[in-house]
Amino acid sequence: MLSSTPHPTDPAAASNSLVFRRQGILFVVSAPSGAGKSTLLNSLRQTPDFVYSVSCTTRPARPGEVDGEDYHFLDKQEFERRIAAGDFIEHAQVHGNYYGTLRETITRNLDAGVDVMIDIDVQGARKIRGDSERIRTALADVFIMPPSMAELRRRLMKRGTETAEQIEIRLGNASKEMEAWHDYKYTIVTGAIEEDLVKFRAIMWAERYLSRRLALA
Ligand code: 5GP
Repeated sequence: MLSSTPHPTDPAAASNSLVFRRQGILFVVSAPSGAGKSTLLNSLRQTPDFVYSVSCTTRPARPGEVDGEDYHFLDKQEFERRIAAGDFIEHAQVHGNYYGTLRETITRNLDAGVDVMIDIDVQGARKIRGDSERIRTALADVFIMPPSMAELRRRLMKRGTETAEQIEIRLGNASKEMEAWHDYKYTIVTGAIEEDLVKFRAIMWAERYLSRRLALA
């Protein structure tokens, strides 16, 4: 999936006489909880020129969350069975629950030239960076920063999906996670959703036109 609106001078346009092919890009997005990442990802998912990889988790579903769309909600036993079976490209414990990315979704789409988006924490991103050459070549990692800790607290409280104790855990984890921003290729400080969307889209399009990703068919 190279371009939804091909243009004759577009090096990625399938109708051009010069036909370029490429592997899919693995967009990794991390952010402390409440940084505005979910709003951004939900907006990006409205224009689906990539596959969103639905993670598995042992966390209970929040009101309104849909199994198979937001997460695959598993019990601990099933999650651990899948770890043992090698189903995850990475998994981690975050805020006291298991979260994991299914390997098959990633590799199948990347091989087919389809871009994949994963929303994972900083531990998961670190594991992805240490994966095979093939995965590292596909990687474009983006860190989403909240404008301030005070704003993060305000957003978490406004969301109202966590208890006061859970909010404190998440804020404590957030300041640690934010130290990892410089390990990411891109960092966006969140502001108005429209602006965040433009910035993220700019990153996606620039990554798609990297010469090193293109090969003449
Ligand atoms: P939440 O419970 O708020 O949906 O997510 C909590 C954290 O878990 C977020 O930082 C999110 O990025 C992370 N997360 C979600 N899915 C995965 C995953 O598959 N692997 C890892 N390592 N982290 C994940």
